[in-house]
Amino acid sequence: MAEHARQIIQNKKVWQILDVINWGKDYLEQHSVELPRLVIETLLMSVLKCKRIDLYMQHDKPLTAEELGEVKKGVLECVEGKPLQYIVGEVEFYDTILTVTQDVLIPRPETEILVDAVIRDYSSSSHDGEVSVLDIGTGSGNIAIAIAKKIENCRIFAADISSKAIEVAKKNAIRNKVEKKITFFTADIMQNWKRSSSLQFEYIVSNPPYIPENEVLPLSVRDYEPHQALFAGCDGLLFYERIVTSCSGWLKKGGKLFFEIGIHQHSRVDRLMTDNGYCNVSFINDLQGIARVARGVYQGTKE
Ligand code: GLN
Repeated sequence: MAEHARQIIQNKKVWQILDVINWGKDYLEQHSVELPRLVIETLLMSVLKCKRIDLYMQHDKPLTAEELGEVKKGVLECVEGKPLQYIVGEVEFYDTILTVTQDVLIPRPETEILVDAVIRDYSSSSHDGEVSVLDIGTGSGNIAIAIAKKIENCRIFAADISSKAIEVAKKNAIRNKVEKKITFFTADIMQNWKRSSSLQFEYIVSNPPYIPENEVLPLSVRDYEPHQALFAGCDGLLFYERIVTSCSGWLKKGGKLFFEIGIHQHSRVDRLMTDNGYCNVSFINDLQGIARVARGVYQGTKE
């Protein structure tokens, strides 16, 4: 017997897609969840595995008890503050769709500026053969995967301290069909890495943890995202210092370092890079006018 008929016989309320949209939107709104319509639509698209247009083309389609249960569970989790991306388990990032679990930071739109800067830099300069890139703190693999999809001839190495994050990143590379171009490995940047000395990079890219330890974060970030991916010592600069002092020698002369940076960090990152062998250090602002990306050209070690 069809679920619809069973629900009518058992005298249960039949929830059609539009009923769920209206209920979810009101409920989320009453609980101060931002963009309530978008949230309920996203939950429905995820549970029903359909596109937004289908929600409206098939607005009178009844949900099964199981589907309804899943959507309601998602609504309640949203109200508790769980990020929607973790509830539906995926996120869009720079022309890719990535799986996210609570083992990885949710990729942010600001990080697309970093990826875009690397791709533009690559396109505007000449290259002899394969370009090698190191992504430090890869998390979900977002930066490495987005670059691998856009730069035809590249070889990317991507590291993270968390082996669980590396598992997610590897699956994401397969999902986006770039697994052959990326070597993922677990490593702690604060330890000495064993590295083949013949391997040198054209680019090092990193969106490292950069939040000062005492900073107060929104609960949806503090309670759900991995702290290891967020915090970086008392001033938030720990990983920038480590990368410019310990990893710069892995860049070819003329190779480039690209960092995502946090608010109020640009002048200190500028000094760090300039003092450690980088020239032409410059910054790219985000849409709010905050310096978000630092880039510099490595001149080689001082003799
Ligand atoms: N590279 C990942 C991102 O940009 C993870 C960053 C991190 O864990 N700090 O989202």
